[in-house]
Amino acid sequence: MSVPVGQMMSVLRHVAIQRLRGNDKYPLVLMLEPLFRCNLACAGCGKIQHPSEILRKHLSPSQCLKAVDECGAPIVAIPGGEPLLHPQIGEIIEGIVARKKYLYVCTNAIKLEEMLPHLKPSKYLAFSIHLDGLQKEHDASVCRDGVYEIAINAIRAAKKAGFRVTTNSTLFADAEPERCSQFFDEVMQLGVEGMMVSPGYSYEKAPEQDIFLSREKSHGLFRKIFKGGGSRWKFNQSPVFLEFLKGNWDLECRPWGTPSYSLFGWQKPCYLLDEGYAETFSDLMKTTDWGSYGRASGNPKCQQCMAHCGYEPAAVEATFGSWKGFLRTARLALFGPPATNQGETVLTAPERLRKVTLPVLPIIDSV
Ligand code: SF4
Ligand code: SF4
Repeated sequence: MSVPVGQMMSVLRHVAIQRLRGNDKYPLVLMLEPLFRCNLACAGCGKIQHPSEILRKHLSPSQCLKAVDECGAPIVAIPGGEPLLHPQIGEIIEGIVARKKYLYVCTNAIKLEEMLPHLKPSKYLAFSIHLDGLQKEHDASVCRDGVYEIAINAIRAAKKAGFRVTTNSTLFADAEPERCSQFFDEVMQLGVEGMMVSPGYSYEKAPEQDIFLSREKSHGLFRKIFKGGGSRWKFNQSPVFLEFLKGNWDLECRPWGTPSYSLFGWQKPCYLLDEGYAETFSDLMKTTDWGSYGRASGNPKCQQCMAHCGYEPAAVEATFGSWKGFLRTARLALFGPPATNQGETVLTAPERLRKVTLPVLPIIDSV
């Protein structure tokens, strides 16, 4: 199973409590951004364009832990900038793990090997390594040669030291289905716990704008990638979200599922858009005009978006919102995608059961 059972139970408990309280908007994953600076400058990054006085700053451990407590989400992700550049990242990690939150530290892995001796493995802690493809594609994506090799070595070292390791990959317009399949095979051979994949969001601030995938192109790309036998790969994502990427399951964005906290406060409405800030989590939930976001709202900034942060919470809602949704998801997890998706390798039900990932997972994006 690519998501720990404890994590699934923790999320299920959280969802059940929220539903019992009649709360239909609740957080699942806190996206905590303690800093924006990075030791890379990727072409598709929407986080490192802040002025240098902002890039020099970071949140203190107590600010980070206050945000974790305020939000109450069972999962915390620390995405980019590069978290391992934070001078007190060890203290932040320790504090979150002590609170029994499932923590995913998203890193480009450049500093990971040197950090490992200073950190303690835990079932609550996983590294989510930024890898956007095989060597050629990844080094091009991060705009620096040699980073792929550093990341692969860091994955091996982290695994050897007893840490949980996952990967997160953002695909762009130049992604080739064949190469993506080879890449997923290679990552599986490294023995990672699971992979996460998502099309890149077309940040207005990203230095290059013609690299992003439209929805239609994303559907075509993911269908082709999975046609070659996707069931041999383990994803740290819900099967519903993967079907959504292929265009086989319609979802509507649920941005409140992944609230984002940074140097500026609680970001409205999501990790990707930057339309104002609230001082407290409670204010974020109360004062954001949620109806103005998501595809159905007609907001042009949301039309092509298929990112984890809006749509993994939607996958949870699709599964637990009704018995019909739950049964549909269970069928998908046990028996695979419907027959319309020709060409996928068919697994037996027991084989699928061993790979089942209910939609109760991390939603992580490094850019
Ligand atoms: S995408 Fe991630 S690794 Fe690349 S520059 Fe942005 S924060 Fe750094
Ligand atoms: S559709 Fe994408 S950009 Fe729009 S609110 Fe949802 S996650 Fe944010």
